[in-house]
Formats: sequence, C-alpha cells, structure tokens
Amino acid sequence: MEEILYRIVENNRDLAQKGKLADYIPALLKADKNHIGISLKTEEGLVYKYGDYNQGFTLQSISKVVAFILAISENGMEDVFKKVGLDSTDEPFNAFTKLDLPNVNKPANPMINSGAILTTSLIKGDGEEKFKKILELTRLMANNESITFNEEVYLSEKLTGSRNRAMAYLMESKRILSGNVEDTLDTYFKQCAIEVNTVDLANLAGFISSGLPGLEFEGISNKDMMLLVKGLLLTCGMYNYSAKYTIEVGVPSKSGVSGGIMALLPRGGGIGIYSPGLDENGNSKAGLGIIKDLSRELKLNLLYDNSI
Ligand code: GLN
Repeated sequence: MEEILYRIVENNRDLAQKGKLADYIPALLKADKNHIGISLKTEEGLVYKYGDYNQGFTLQSISKVVAFILAISENGMEDVFKKVGLDSTDEPFNAFTKLDLPNVNKPANPMINSGAILTTSLIKGDGEEKFKKILELTRLMANNESITFNEEVYLSEKLTGSRNRAMAYLMESKRILSGNVEDTLDTYFKQCAIEVNTVDLANLAGFISSGLPGLEFEGISNKDMMLLVKGLLLTCGMYNYSAKYTIEVGVPSKSGVSGGIMALLPRGGGIGIYSPGLDENGNSKAGLGIIKDLSRELKLNLLYDNSI
C-alpha cells in the first residue's frame, strides 16, 4: 500500500501546480501549492500515510457533513428535510439565484452553501454553543481531541463572505431560514475554519462508514443514517462534478475549497487527501487525480462489477 500511495501521489504531483488557490477567502491564498498528502485507513484500522499528510488545512465544505449529522441527531430526519432538499444540483456550490424563484422554498441539498447554512441554523443552542457542538462532534469523529479552528481563516471569510450573507438573508426574507442570521453565519464561517490534517479526514470518513458508532438519531437507525450520508455524498459531495465523479471514482466523498477531499471506504475505511490547488469546480486538482487513480488501482468504485 505504501508503494501505491507513493506512486500515485508522485504521478499526480504536477497537477498540484496547475490548480488555483481559492482566492475569495483571502487567508486561503497563504496555502502552499506544493503541499500534497494522503492518509488511507483500512477497514482493519491501519493508517497508511504519504507526503504532507500532517499538514493542517481547514475543513471548509467538508464541515457540512458534520453539521448535517448533528442537525439530524437533534431534529430528526423529517424536520431537517422539511427545510432542505435531497436533490443533486448542476450549479456551483455558491449559487443561489434559484432560491429567489417563487416556487422554490428549499435549498437543493445540505452540501451546497445555502443548504449548509440552513442545516447549521437547525443546530440547537445560542451563540458559541452551536459551534462548540460542531467542533466536539468533529473531534469525536476524527478521534482527535486537539482539533481546533483557524482564527485567521475564520475572520478572513467572515469579512469577505458577502455571497454567503446574501443567500442567508434571501432565505430569511422568504422565511426559509429562521433565527439570528448573523449568528448562523458566524457559526458557519467558524465550522468551515476547523483545522484538520489528512489523518483526521481519513478517521472522519471511517467513523461514518463504520455506522456512526455511539451517536443516536431520531427516526432513523444508524445503518440508515450511514446510507443517507453516503448517498448524499455520492450525489452531492463534489459539487456540480458529483455525477461525473461517481462514474469516474464511485466513492462517497466530500471536498472543500481549501483543497481537502474526504472519501468513505466500506466498513470503517476512509481516505483523506490534501492539495490546495483547485480545478474549475472548486475540487482539489491533484486530489481528484489521486483519488481517480486510487479508485482504479484498488477497484474502489461502487459501480465496479468484479464478475464481468
Ligand atoms: N467556506 C466556504 C464557503 O462558504 C466553503 C465552500 C466550499 O468549501 N466549497 O464559501
């Protein structure tokens, strides 16, 4: 496995420089495009690592998965899906003009920004409390108590996040979003700034794919919750690239604009990848190359049929 990770990462290294850093959050421009790392956790719990696996980066959109799990555990599935859809989308993650159409009353899904802001608003608690719960759950899932958030990235997005602010206020005006909008946005920006490394991501993925042990959900068993999260990631996890990704990679995954990719392998396995240069959809360019090659080599695609 070490040899495979080494070979595949090195084969994709040139893509890292071709990617573009997310510049709409100014602090993310400080990332080093040369960084490229991976951790792979097997179902037996062994973790293989290569490259800059230890490099810290912020969760960004990957935090949407944690917030979604928390929102379901606190509100039940029915109440969450009354407010947010379960439809894939062909639009970029930060699109929101459709929300202004008279017959649209929900964001398409919890993995695009509007849907994630809505999901975060459903988490119970005042002020800092919501964020603390998201951070605690991230630590639990990643099995790392020392995880914290990056103040600089948080403040940078808070200062420049007009687009997220616009969609939140649009949702408030349509009575889709309730509660204090600025508090919700503050929690959302902070959750996006939670800092992890690829080992944490592999553990997070493994926690979900082992059936979210120890968590309880209203109206849905842990097994079904795991199916729901996997299905959501397979259909919406890689933004508007999700359909192509499912064909090419076929592994439930979530990416973030800081360059992280979290991929769920069966029975407690997981992959974390980091390389901050992004492609036109906001997915890590080298990360995508790596996971494509890895899926082919290790036959990870769920659609793959061994007997044909
Ligand atoms: N914090 C980012 C935003 O809200 C997260 C988006 C992403 O990772 N795609 O724009």
